Amino acid sequence: MKNQVLQGLAGAALSVFMLSGTSFAASEANRINVQATGNVPLQLNVFECGRVLARDISIFNPAADKGVSMKMAVPCYLITHPKGTVFWDGGLPDALIDKKDGLEYYEGAFNFSVKKTLISQLEEINIKPSDIDFLALSHLHVDHAGNANYFSESTWLVQDNERTIAFSKDAGNYGFIPHDYAQLKNSKTVKLNGDHDVFGDGSVVILSTAGHSPGHQSLWVDLPKTGPVIISGDLYHFQKNRENYGIPIWNSKKESIHSFARVDNILDRTKAALWIQHDMPLFKSLKKSPAFYE
Ligand SMILES: [Zn+2]
Repeated sequence: MKNQVLQGLAGAALSVFMLSGTSFAASEANRINVQATGNVPLQLNVFECGRVLARDISIFNPAADKGVSMKMAVPCYLITHPKGTVFWDGGLPDALIDKKDGLEYYEGAFNFSVKKTLISQLEEINIKPSDIDFLALSHLHVDHAGNANYFSESTWLVQDNERTIAFSKDAGNYGFIPHDYAQLKNSKTVKLNGDHDVFGDGSVVILSTAGHSPGHQSLWVDLPKTGPVIISGDLYHFQKNRENYGIPIWNSKKESIHSFARVDNILDRTKAALWIQHDMPLFKSLKKSPAFYE
């Protein structure tokens, strides 16, 4: 099983991220006008789900920082709502814990490593993946879907276009590794075309933010004590990438610009915090499970 995971990663490494410049129809329908009310008692746990060394961050913005390397975080999140639980993003595969020097990926542009398994962090809080009600992944790249198969008994909340590609012969061309999420194929699934209010009360809302992948999504979480946060997915990869609105080489430029503007508008209006998932300074500043945000 572990060897299969690693072979899957290695085999896919050369075929990923081939569609730079391709444009897809934006999911502008079904938008939800999120509001910060703080009136649902949510909890949010943050887990470490691997690390990425990016050896040249100009891959995230060809206009800047040629040859500069960066260590990047790979978090996963659990949201506990009175009516159920949502797991957000699947991190890098736990099986990478056996690769002491990490795994070279995308012709050495990245090194992926895992120092602490997700499953061990869930055990710390007495949760089994099968306890989770809903799984939502920002998108299906390996550093966000690596442990997706753990959650095959959850209800999968996925943009219809992302799922269609994921199970097509084109999956590799979008940087998806079907082995990572193969067991979700027969999961109970809610196919989305735009935003989705998970519990119907505005507290946990999937926001359609296409661009990095055709069905990329971010997550609005209206925490009563902490205040609202938007968990970015790969809308941006790190703080400077946000400040200069850098567009990675494999994104749809048109859709990315659209999604940047959309999220900026929500942040301005609601004063939500933006948690850029891969941003290491931000990740280091967050309290990790078993501690949680309220
Ligand atoms: Zn990523």
